[in-house]
Order: sequence, then structure tokens, then C-alpha cells
Amino acid sequence: MDLTAFIRDVPDFPEPGIVFKDITPLLGNAVAFAQAIDALAEPFVDAQISAVAGIDARGFLVGVAAAQRLGVGFLPIRKAGKLPSDTHQVSYELEYGSDAVEIHVDACGTGDRILIVDDVLATGGTLAAAAECVSMTGAAPIGLAVLIELRFLAGRNRLPNVDFHTVIEVV
Ligand code: AMP
Repeated sequence: MDLTAFIRDVPDFPEPGIVFKDITPLLGNAVAFAQAIDALAEPFVDAQISAVAGIDARGFLVGVAAAQRLGVGFLPIRKAGKLPSDTHQVSYELEYGSDAVEIHVDACGTGDRILIVDDVLATGGTLAAAAECVSMTGAAPIGLAVLIELRFLAGRNRLPNVDFHTVIEVV
């Protein structure tokens, strides 16, 4: 099944010049979404992952499914101010604007091997900040995976030197 058929381009959202990659058609199709999650998780099946971390908010949808697929727990990396307990925080630049992400200090720790997932890799700032958050707990971000990589933004150049996997490449 061609998964690109389930990604909707929405021009000029959330601001002029951005082509938003809308995954709601993919989420709405059980067979296509299962195929996407299988493809996302497959390289990490034998990687002794301790948990999957997903990035607020669409990374939660992908991350929870990937965690179930890999038989491990899920931990949220959230926008600043959303997590209720003590957090580590990292600021970063977006394709549109700037932001900060946080992780609970006790979400994971030394010896844990964390796979971090999100829906889209654009400039790479979000995923790099998420990896830094995981590292601040003492855990190791051993893999990064996204459904869609916007190759023309060269976001992978900003990522730490760990396994990076993408399901759909947009050139
Ligand atoms: P970046 O930090 O630039 O790699 O941006 C990645 C984050 O912003 C991800 O959490 C995406 O959900 C979101 N994002 C950035 N650009 C887009 C886009 N063109 N379409 C959909 N989501 C995007």
C-alpha cells in the first residue's frame, strides 16, 4: 500500500509558505496506519529498546502505537508547562517559531535505551531537543524515527549521531 496517499498536503498552514503534512487520513485508515507503524518500528525490533518517547502532540499518536508494536512502555516529551511533575527542559527553533520541550526527570534513566519518535522531521530542532531531554535523564537516545522526513530542509544534519529511520521521504 502506498502510504503517501494517506498524507494530505495543506498549503499555508499554520502560516503562509508552510506546506503542512496532515497525517489524519493515515490515522483514519486502520490498515495503512498499521503498515506505517510496522515500517517505523521494524528496524528497532531487536534493538533492546526500553521505552518509546513520543513528542507532543502528533508524536504521541505515532509513539504509543510504536511502543505497543515493540512491546515496551511509552513516555511523553511535552511542550513546556504541560508535564505535572519535575522536568528537564530544552529550547529549540522550529520551521515556524521557537519552542521548548520537557521530559519528566524520572521518565527514564541510566541504562535505558530510548527510541524517540515524531510524525514529521522538518528542520530537526524538535527531535534534537527531544534527544537532549532524554540524555539529561541519564538514558541513551539510541534511535530516532519519524513517519515523514522533509529532505529538502536537511533536518537530519542537526540530529545526534544515532540510528535515524524514516518511513516516507519528501524530497
Ligand atoms: P522541526 O523541529 O523543524 O523538525 O519541526 C518538527 C516538528 O514540527 C514536528 O513535531 C512536526 O509535527 C512539526 N512540523 C514541522 N513542519 C511541519 C510540516 N510541514 N507539516 C507537519 N508538521 C510539521
